[in-house]
Amino acid sequence: AKEVHLLRYPDGMPKRDDFAIVDVPVLKPLDGEVLIENTWMSVDPYMRGRMTQRKSYIPPFALNAPLEGHAVGRVIASRDSRFVEGDLVTSMTGWRSHALLERDYVHPLPDAPDIPEQAFLGPLGMPGMTAWIGLNKIAQYQPGETVFVSAAAGAVGSVVCQLAKAKNCYVIGSTGSPDKARWLKDKLGVDAVINYRDTDDLSAALGQAAPDGIDVYYENVGGAHLEAALDHINVNGRIAVCGMISMYNDRSKTPGPSNLFRLTTQRARMEGFIVSDHWTSYPDFVREGIDLVRAGSLTWQETVFEGLDKAPDAFIGLFDGKNTGKMLVKLTG
Ligand code: NDP
Repeated sequence: AKEVHLLRYPDGMPKRDDFAIVDVPVLKPLDGEVLIENTWMSVDPYMRGRMTQRKSYIPPFALNAPLEGHAVGRVIASRDSRFVEGDLVTSMTGWRSHALLERDYVHPLPDAPDIPEQAFLGPLGMPGMTAWIGLNKIAQYQPGETVFVSAAAGAVGSVVCQLAKAKNCYVIGSTGSPDKARWLKDKLGVDAVINYRDTDDLSAALGQAAPDGIDVYYENVGGAHLEAALDHINVNGRIAVCGMISMYNDRSKTPGPSNLFRLTTQRARMEGFIVSDHWTSYPDFVREGIDLVRAGSLTWQETVFEGLDKAPDAFIGLFDGKNTGKMLVKLTG
């Protein structure tokens, strides 16, 4: 079996040699345990926060130990009557080929054999759920509103776009590549797309795309994106602060938005959230998500790196936009 370990907390942008691939023996399950062979694992931007030694909502990763994250796998040996060999399960044992777990840490995949298992790491997993919570509970989006979303072609952003379109919102997405922009417009039906790398005035570009302002900003990026959104937020607008990926590799503190006072003049609300606080709603989300997939209203793309050895490259790739839709690592099968 193999695992990926973190050797040191990265300084700035993570580098390949911050990680090591380590060989370990495959252990046999004891009573009450199941042995899983992972088929797919997820790499996610939030993991960068766990590669930093500071207090946060979740502790830093331990050095010289297997990293953690969402994974889908197959039970290959079970000493728990709830699981049999061949069952597909999810767990938090990403970044390793095999995992030995007690049943409380293993979850059966929702019963939807028509949907590929790895979708439960993307549009129907944590990222999809993040989109759904941010729009419903935090932004409380309403039909017909104008919704602006950054990192729109990513795992979370692409679900935000589609949920908002399904509710008849006017959707503006920002992304950093023409291919992604095309996907958003042509396949996901996004009304206007801004390529932030193609403009030196993001606020002006947003103003052009949304002459009547925006009601909701789904924040994934931070920095100039947040300033632009504040410039155009409508009265009673809502900003759901999901993430600020443009800052995760910063070595020092960066200045805040110069126009935060717009929250006051516009009586707008800005609220952060962490999806895991809302996990009891996952069954409601996944039921709705599976229905949307079957109705053709929720589609996705994946960028797949093959093999556990490539997991660090896949993770690093998130920070220069190598992924369209969900970034995944395929381990077996
Ligand atoms: P994505 O699939 O969106 O991948 C990251 C994308 O971010 C890249 O593809 C790239 O797209 C864009 N990006 C990277 N660096 C920059 C930069 N410096 N400036 C602008 N864009 C950049 O990741 P996820 O969908 O998994 O995550 C999206 C956001 O949601 C992140 O901020 C993440 O931390 C947050 N998140 C928050 C959760 C919560 O509970 N609050 C849970 C899950 C995710 P492009 O090519 O378009 O630039």
